[in-house]
Amino acid sequence: MLIQRQETKILATLGPASFSPEMIRALILKGTDGFRINMSHEKAGDLAARVQAVRSAAAQENAAVAVVVDLGGPKIRVGTLPNGQINLVDGGQPILGADIPVSHPEILTDIRPGHRILMDDGKLELEVLGVVPNGVKTRVRVGGLLLQGKGVNLPDTELRLPALTDKDIEDLAAAVRAEADYVSLSFVQRPGDLLLARREAERHGRCPLLIAKIEKPQAVDRFEEILKVSDGVMVARGDLGVEVSPARVPVLQKHFISRCNAQGKTVITATQMLESMIQNPRPTRAEASDVANAVWDGTDAVMLSGETAIGRYPLECVGMMRDIIAEAEKAAPHRREPFPDATRVHALASAAVDAAEELHARAIVIITLSGFTAQMVAQRRPSVPLIAVVPELRIRNRLALVWGILPVIVPWGDNSDGLLAGMEKILVASGYIQLKDTIIIISGSTRLRGADYIMKIQAPSEP
Ligand code: PGA
Ligand code: MN
Repeated sequence: MLIQRQETKILATLGPASFSPEMIRALILKGTDGFRINMSHEKAGDLAARVQAVRSAAAQENAAVAVVVDLGGPKIRVGTLPNGQINLVDGGQPILGADIPVSHPEILTDIRPGHRILMDDGKLELEVLGVVPNGVKTRVRVGGLLLQGKGVNLPDTELRLPALTDKDIEDLAAAVRAEADYVSLSFVQRPGDLLLARREAERHGRCPLLIAKIEKPQAVDRFEEILKVSDGVMVARGDLGVEVSPARVPVLQKHFISRCNAQGKTVITATQMLESMIQNPRPTRAEASDVANAVWDGTDAVMLSGETAIGRYPLECVGMMRDIIAEAEKAAPHRREPFPDATRVHALASAAVDAAEELHARAIVIITLSGFTAQMVAQRRPSVPLIAVVPELRIRNRLALVWGILPVIVPWGDNSDGLLAGMEKILVASGYIQLKDTIIIISGSTRLRGADYIMKIQAPSEP
């Protein structure tokens, strides 16, 4: 059997349309590699049960499935309005903080004259005139009907709000206790935001991998520093498109993906990928092109939000995404970014990929304790299937979101001969390889005597 798993992974957001165990299982069978739990709409107390639902469905299907807990972050919203709404007329001068209350009034002191205030997904726009005793005086540049609870974006304002709200801190602790594989942080502004989350998580146990959602201009400006302290990045095109112009989103997407690819860090492309399928069984042609382009940009995973959380066609969305990915991957080779530095693992990864492509190997089998060596082989974007042999479920789950990797658990034992023999048995029994196949086996640091930083070419004897 040829390994038919797709290289680009699919992350689906859970919600009322997909909470049921049957739906989670069906989504996995359709090709979902990970589930996002959006804490903007969830209580910390319910998280453990949500994670458990994914774990049991994954166990039933014996599938590698990652859980991403997405913290809501300091999202600013319009507070309670008389009659629930206010009509903003062009040129009017409402006071933010009084006429238009906001969920975090402390932001008012960070706002300066000239700053833009965007509301309701950027549909309404105010310009700040100056500070007044009860708030911030503005002029309506683009008016309309504003409903309470709508989002407020302040693209020009560096917010001194803490990166983690009280709810985030509670949700993060719950995510650590539920052993989530990834935690994503919303509205990241600085590298310190990630360091804070890491410290906070470690008070409760082992820190999950941390994903920085890039959706603020401040994060765009500090992207390189943020990338250094993150395990991965989400191109959070929804809020990003409000805070910078939608016109810049495609260019930024390409840039972030290529930087993550170079560093071998996980990158997720998110939001509105198949938006129209919330209502319709088929996507627009523009949406199909968008998914394909994210694949060609080199993303590790593409994400579904409302499509699987509240949409009418969650299964059709995953099926369609899978079909678009399959066509896109057939059509164009993947770009290979140079490694950022010279290390043994990088050298090993390059050698394995060269050998595998030279010999048309059936697979590269990567023995990896932490998943790092596997991720560095994936960094090469090879044309040969990748199987990661890992010791535990935790590593298997996190690799589920990494481009191209099929993670398989094999009992580690205490010597490399035992591991190699056990591994071969499992891979053959699962149909991933046959005994007559040429395979390239590598291992990074394994803690097994004689098995560190080695490469083996296993092939039928040459004539
Ligand atoms: P959200 O993040 O869905 O949590 O807002 C993604 C985005 O903004 O694109
Ligand atoms: Mn967002």
